[in-house]
Amino acid sequence: MEILYKSTRSNNQPVTASQAILQGLSEDGGLFVPTTIPRLDVSVEKLMEMSYQEVAYEVMHLFLSDFTEEELKNCIARAYDEKFDTPAIAPVVEKDGACYLELFHGATIAFKDMALSILPHLMTTAAKKNHVKNEIVILTATSGDTGKAAMAGFADVPGTKIIVFYPKNGVSTIQELQMVTQKGNNTYVVAINGNFDDAQSAVKRMFNDKKLETELAEAGYQFSSANSINIGRLVPQIAYYVYAYAQMCKMGEIEPGTKINVDVPTGNFGNILAAFYAKNMGLPIAKLICASNENKVLYDFFRTGEYDRNRAFILTSSPSMDILISSNLERLIYRIAGGDAVKNREFMESLAKNGKYEITEDMKALLDDFYGNYASEQETANKIADVFKKTGYVMDTHTGVAAAVYDKYKSETGDDRKTVIASTASPYKFGRSVIGAIAPEYADLEDFAMIDKLCELSKVPEPKAIQEIRNAQIRHNTVVDVDKMQDAVKKILGI
Ligand SMILES: *Cc1c(COP(=O)(O)O)cnc(C)c1O
Repeated sequence: MEILYKSTRSNNQPVTASQAILQGLSEDGGLFVPTTIPRLDVSVEKLMEMSYQEVAYEVMHLFLSDFTEEELKNCIARAYDEKFDTPAIAPVVEKDGACYLELFHGATIAFKDMALSILPHLMTTAAKKNHVKNEIVILTATSGDTGKAAMAGFADVPGTKIIVFYPKNGVSTIQELQMVTQKGNNTYVVAINGNFDDAQSAVKRMFNDKKLETELAEAGYQFSSANSINIGRLVPQIAYYVYAYAQMCKMGEIEPGTKINVDVPTGNFGNILAAFYAKNMGLPIAKLICASNENKVLYDFFRTGEYDRNRAFILTSSPSMDILISSNLERLIYRIAGGDAVKNREFMESLAKNGKYEITEDMKALLDDFYGNYASEQETANKIADVFKKTGYVMDTHTGVAAAVYDKYKSETGDDRKTVIASTASPYKFGRSVIGAIAPEYADLEDFAMIDKLCELSKVPEPKAIQEIRNAQIRHNTVVDVDKMQDAVKKILGI
């Protein structure tokens, strides 16, 4: 069955999967959504025998129906290889009554690697299929994590270049080291004298600059974006929920067919939306638990039906969830609006103009699949410490938010169904906050001494991603002013 993709904001002609991946965002500003969600057509018993790569194929080929079997298997093989530090790719471990789906075994030890390892291959394959001759230039502004994960994915992928801008004084020492030591002859890192918003706005201006677009095309280039609204990032994320389910059956946690809950630490609503799609494919999922940190816009939305970003932005120890506009939520809004693009557009325009919108009672009734709650900084730290004390398992702060919310869910509902918690980062990635939770007496150690201590406490070997930056050579040292960002891009591309 051919699956096409349409915009959430207009009734424009649907496009193929490969076209949607190349475009990223629809021209009308909407997000691409599949016209139908395909049914998973392999049995759980069969899935239990499959490798991660095989499960990924079973899920992805249904959504990316204009890719040939050979093309897709090729993309999967190149993405999920030795870059991951375990052949399981996304292992499931049981600790203290919950199953943790570890999504942090890739190149940058956080869950963005799951999608950004494969996106470059999907994109270059999509370019070939659509007879795009230009070289693809990925342009990204980052507050630390996404830029690094995107570079790790695109490094040395033929037919692509990637340019990442980051705020010179706006990222952690470890994050900066991770970026400036990035290998690959097609990777470019530029620090700017400004903040993340400055970087983001300038990148958006370059994307919309028609004159620049023409100059690029004349030199054989075109821009593309690797951000989390691309369906080429969403679809690969569905696969690991299916894989986790099969693993839980293999572990004897559940019988094939038993429903589980899925609990996800949420920011942009991409990861949990992938779980929602998995449920709609027929994977036996009961509740989708949406866990927020103190930036609890989503919690308020699930309780009241009003999405309101007008509030103070709180810096927390789970920075990848410090978000007031969860872009991927639009795909859910569109769906509960009955696929009505006009209605969805009105909500999104209200969000842009007034910073808020309120859904109807009928729409609210369709949110039954979800449960939303949040954890404070203290609750998160307490949960990390508690699980460490009981089991020796050390989780990161984002995962800690989800684990703390799971406790609230259980005590509020009495539901004791088996639950999988998406574990989205290695504790090493946010080591200082993690140490602060489990052994605060060491929280002031210098960066690498702190990591040594974490290694001792967690008994988890230091990941390659950390080892690499200890002695790696600095390869990128360009710093520019915000108004010189476009010049920097031109210089890199030689135009
Ligand atoms: C990006 C990120 C999240 C949030 O995921 P969304 O798909 O944006 O909801 C959670 N944890 C970590 C570590 C992340 O990097």
